[in-house]
Amino acid sequence: MADTKQLYQEVILDHNRKPRNWGTLPDATHQAEGVNPLCGDRLQLAVKLSDDAVEGIAFEGESCAICKASASMMTTAVKGKARSDAERLIQEFRDMATGKLDTGKEPHHLGRLTVFAGVRDLPTRVKCAILPWHTLHAAFNSMRTTSTEADADPMHEQTPGGAA
Ligand code: ZN
Repeated sequence: MADTKQLYQEVILDHNRKPRNWGTLPDATHQAEGVNPLCGDRLQLAVKLSDDAVEGIAFEGESCAICKASASMMTTAVKGKARSDAERLIQEFRDMATGKLDTGKEPHHLGRLTVFAGVRDLPTRVKCAILPWHTLHAAFNSMRTTSTEADADPMHEQTPGGAA
């Protein structure tokens, strides 16, 4: 377990120092802003979908290290993928972070994203890690703003244009 913890810290630090796909995307087709009031995380996500695949993706904003690292790794994971594959990753990441998916025992497509499996033991951090994925889901579904406070479960029964 010590190795997992060390890897987690190294990955978080690396992506926090050098976030991948940081910035804006002038030709974005889908955008959303995600807010996690509990921590103060706020990020803007821009996606360019072409032929129903993620041709481009970029994010920026102000967030804690876990949220930023999760967003950075998410962008590298979904870039170039079909939207349906990206949606599957969103679901798997969410299930992993909330403890519904045991990545050590069940099949998944998360790859290195499994470094975030440990957040399930840190209830206050689960929303930080999930926020970027929640925001990507919102962007795909053309919901311009989203908040982890819309419901106790971030991706459960969202209402478009709901409470900011
Ligand atoms: Zn946070």
